[in-house]
Amino acid sequence: MQRAVAVVTGASSGIGAATARELARSGFDVVVGARRFDRLAELASSIGPAARASRLDVTDDQSVVSFCEAVPECRVLVNCAGGALGSDRVADADLARWTEMYESNVLGTLRMVRALLPKLVASGDGHVVTVGSVAGFETYVGGAGYNAAKHATRALMDVLRLELLGQPVRVSEIDPGMVETEFSVVRFDGDAERAAALYAGMTPLSADDVAECIGFVVTRPSHVDIDQLVVRPRDQARVGVVHRRD
Ligand code: NAP
Repeated sequence: MQRAVAVVTGASSGIGAATARELARSGFDVVVGARRFDRLAELASSIGPAARASRLDVTDDQSVVSFCEAVPECRVLVNCAGGALGSDRVADADLARWTEMYESNVLGTLRMVRALLPKLVASGDGHVVTVGSVAGFETYVGGAGYNAAKHATRALMDVLRLELLGQPVRVSEIDPGMVETEFSVVRFDGDAERAAALYAGMTPLSADDVAECIGFVVTRPSHVDIDQLVVRPRDQARVGVVHRRD
């Protein structure tokens, strides 16, 4: 039998890379995209013939169109591309960072959904899975730019679910708390020490923990739509409310 195709964005690192591995293990052919092609090629060769890598910048219309045109069919789209930039307070907000966060997390997701929706519908059992965040419904000091973007991603998924009612496409949002990936290093402009300090004395989720949740969501029977799945480390009750053992 032919294997179903899953597209995973943001697969050069963290949750996206782990999700590509997880879905390939669950029997999907995976098409992985991100800007750093060398990382993607390494991932694809570690997965084997079930994986294909293509360069993708979700903030660029043409890049999304070319990437999606090369995907012949698609049953699952997992939107992982995105992240946070900085932790400026509103008074000092850097508009360029806000714009970039909105571009990758929100408009990037929109571009991917718009381009692949006809193929998801045509599959007869399509599924859009978007990695949001607890930042999409819990705000925190210094979080406004990322909070605003993830709140918007959440609204986009909610509306999509309404608009697709009656079509054979599920819409799921996975909202993780703290996951140790490159996320915080990117957020803090490459400051690995500052990023590591966030996880001091507590046990964060791993990218594999979140990928397993995504694997669970996409392998439910097709009438079952897990519309939101919130997953946090036991050591985190809310954004900024963390139990540390030291
Ligand atoms: P990560 O390790 O930094 O991975 C982010 C991925 O997004 C990378 O593969 C990056 O690839 C890709 N990406 C960023 N901008 C892109 C663009 N313009 N076009 C294509 N790909 C792009 O962080 P992560 O934790 O796995 O993050 C994955 C998702 O989970 C993000 O949406 C993030 O907001 C969300 N999330 C993370 C956490 C956490 O604590 N880590 C918690 C909740 C939600 P390239 O740089 O190679 O393009």
